[in-house]
Amino acid sequence: MAFITGMTKDGHEWTPQFIKAIDKDLCIGCGRCYKACAMDVLAYEEVDSEDSAKAYMTVGNAGNCIGCQACGRTCPKKCFSFEPTLT
Ligand code: SF4
Ligand code: SF4
Repeated sequence: MAFITGMTKDGHEWTPQFIKAIDKDLCIGCGRCYKACAMDVLAYEEVDSEDSAKAYMTVGNAGNCIGCQACGRTCPKKCFSFEPTLT
């Protein structure tokens, strides 16, 4: 068993930590993670269709994730969990 690994520019091995889940009970819908993700992985989900100001973040397109964890670093509520992926 081996995880997907890559290389940094200077040749160090790097194991991407791909998005696993977002805890919607912790999420306050601030959108910081959405702005941080360059791969269009995240998506808003409205809590109440009659009040679009209330929303939380979901994983919309997990297959696009490159495992950079930028989303998790921006999250003030520690909503994200990550995991490596087997090859
Ligand atoms: S780990 Fe990187 S690519 Fe994946 S969802 Fe987070 S910011 Fe986007
Ligand atoms: S940064 Fe965290 S709290 Fe803010 S929308 Fe994203 S998951 Fe929710």
